[in-house]
Formats: sequence, structure tokens, C-alpha cells
Amino acid sequence: MTRILIAEDEPQIAAFVRRGLESAGYESVIVEEGDKALEVALSGEIDLVLLDIGLPVMDGFEVLRALRAAGSTTPVIMLTARTSTRDTVEGLESGANDYIPKPFAFDELLARVRSRLRESSPRPGFILTQDDVELDLLTRRATVGGKEVELSAREFTLAEQFLRHPGEVLSREWLLREVWGLNFDPGSNVVDVYVRYLRSKIGHGHIVTVRGAGYRWG
Ligand code: CA
Repeated sequence: MTRILIAEDEPQIAAFVRRGLESAGYESVIVEEGDKALEVALSGEIDLVLLDIGLPVMDGFEVLRALRAAGSTTPVIMLTARTSTRDTVEGLESGANDYIPKPFAFDELLARVRSRLRESSPRPGFILTQDDVELDLLTRRATVGGKEVELSAREFTLAEQFLRHPGEVLSREWLLREVWGLNFDPGSNVVDVYVRYLRSKIGHGHIVTVRGAGYRWG
């Protein structure tokens, strides 16, 4: 059974989310403190984390960074009352898979949960290759010309989109949706920044800027 961790220190919100998830057929665990959330998220028994930013002991950003630093690829959806671009970008750069501002409609939360769970189901041993770049989707390892390169979780997902759609122009809006799970532009040129990071790691010849339209592999 799919088990979802609800890291939320407001009991009413936690109970509301739990009721909804349970009626949708998911099991859930509620924790109120950040350090506890990290421990439970790393237990290997959690399929997805709903993570509030304002938590006691460790805040949501700290939990997320520690989780990713420990190598966990468990999908994380940040829940927050804060809607500033800075917090959105910080959350996404710390490795969040999605972001939901409070207050939210439960149906919206559920749709995001389903979609993040779908993306994270493993495709065993699946390898994507274009030119000299190879991505192993199971181990999340990237190599260029046979040499391993360190990509962050976000850079890897971005590279994956290019390798899945070689020769196609990918717009910023499309990439924001596919890579960051955003249906809006946080106004931070996050896509351009990450394309730059990615080029610096895999070489500058692969991803072409298509003026006014987006980016294209090859
Ligand atoms: Ca809170």
C-alpha cells in the first residue's frame, strides 16, 4: 500500500489531509516536527512526503536538504502559506518535486500526489542515450563520454527531458511544468539558470537556445 508522510504541525490541516488521503486509498503517517519527519522519511517505508515549511525543530527546507543529501529520491511536495518567489525557488532548488500554497483545495493536492507518485514508479534499468550523454534512470547516474558527472536531482530531470525529446524545441513553460511541476512561471528565470548549470556539466554543444521559443537538444 502506498504510504504518505504528512509533516505538518497544524493538527487541523494534518487531520484534513489524512482524511482525504485515506478516502482516496492511501495510508498516511502524521508527524509534527521536522527532525521526526526526516527520520520517518528515511525509514524506507514512505512513498511520498507532504512537507510543511514552518515546522518545529527543523524547518521544511532543512528537512528537504537533509533528505536529498542522504540520497533519498522520495518525491516531496512542499506545503506552505508563504507564496513568495524566493521561497518557491528555494524549495525547488532544495529538491522539492512540487509546491502547493495554502490554502489549497484537497482535489488539487490529490491530483499532485497522484502525478508525483506516477512519475516516481521505477522503470528498471532504463537507459537514455543521446550523443555522448547517457542517463541511467534507475540509479540516477549520468555519464558523458563514459565519465560520470554529478548532476543534482533537478539537473538530472532536466537532462532527461532533453534526451526524451531530441530535436524538439522545449519551451520554458513546458519545462517548468515537466521538471518543476509548476503551472505558472515563478518569474525567476529558473529554467535558464538550470540550462546553464547543465551545459557547464555535460558540455556546451548539446543544448541550443532557440530565441523566443526555448531550448532544443542537438
Ligand atoms: Ca506549520
